[in-house]
Amino acid sequence: ELDVVEYRKNLAIRVSGVDVPKPIKAFADCGFSNVLMNAIAKQGYEKPTPIQCQALPIVLSGRDVIGIAKTGSGKTAAFILPMVVHIMDQPELKKEEGPIGMICAPTRELAHQIYLEAKKFAKPHGLRVAAVYGGMSKHEQFKELKAGSDIVVATPGRLIDLLKMKALTMLRATFLVLDEADRMFDLGFEPQIRAIVGQVRPDRQTLLFSATMPRKVERLAREGLTDPIRVTVGEVG
Ligand code: ADP
Ligand code: MG
Repeated sequence: ELDVVEYRKNLAIRVSGVDVPKPIKAFADCGFSNVLMNAIAKQGYEKPTPIQCQALPIVLSGRDVIGIAKTGSGKTAAFILPMVVHIMDQPELKKEEGPIGMICAPTRELAHQIYLEAKKFAKPHGLRVAAVYGGMSKHEQFKELKAGSDIVVATPGRLIDLLKMKALTMLRATFLVLDEADRMFDLGFEPQIRAIVGQVRPDRQTLLFSATMPRKVERLAREGLTDPIRVTVGEVG
C-alpha cells in the first residue's frame, strides 16, 4: 500500500504501511485537550506542517513510525504532542519509577532544542521534562532524574552513564523516540542506542526519525519497530 500526496510542487509525502490512519488538516482534528490547544496557539502554530498532518494521527493511534525528512519540517511537535497525550492517558503517574517518554538525539544542541520544545507542551499539563547530555554536571542531572521526570531528552552516551549510575530506570518507559538516527550512527552511538532500545519494554511505541536511511539504520528500524508506517518527505522530479 503506497499513498503519495503532493503538497506543493516538487515536495511529496509518501506514506507506506498497512492500515494507515487518515491525515488531518488542522490541529483541532487531533482531539487535543484545551491545555494543549492553547500551548500550540501560544507557539504561533496556526496549522500543522505537511509531516505533522500525516504523522500526528498515526502517532496518536499508537503506531510505530519511521519518519524520513530533512530538518525544518516540524518533526519535533509531531512526536512531542502525541507523547504528552500518551503520558496523560496513563492511569497513575509514579514519577519515581522513571520517565514514560524517552527521546534520544545525537548532540547536546539538538537535545537542548527538543527539551525546550517539549517543555512548552508538557509543562502546561504539569509534566516534568529532564535534559541529559554532556557538558552539564552529571551530579546535577543525577539529582534531577532522582527527583522524577515524565519525559527525558538525552544524548545516548550520557544516558547510558546515568542508567549505570541508577539515576533512572526504563521500567515505565513506553514511548521511545530516536531522533536523527543517521547522525547518531555517524557519531558512533550504535552500541549505546542498541543498549537503550534493549532496556525499554518491547510493548513500547517507537518512532525513528532520520534524514537518510543507510543500511544500519534500516536494520535498527526492522529490529526495533513493530509494523511501522513509513512517512517520507522529499523532493521529487
Ligand atoms: P525538524 O525536527 O523537522 O528539523 P523542528 O521540529 O525543529 O523541525 O521545527 C522547525 C521549526 O518549525 C521550528 O522553529 C518550529 O518551532 C517550527 N514549527 C514546527 N511546527 C510548526 C507549525 N505547525 N507551524 C509553524 N511553525 C512550526
Ligand atoms: Mg529535529
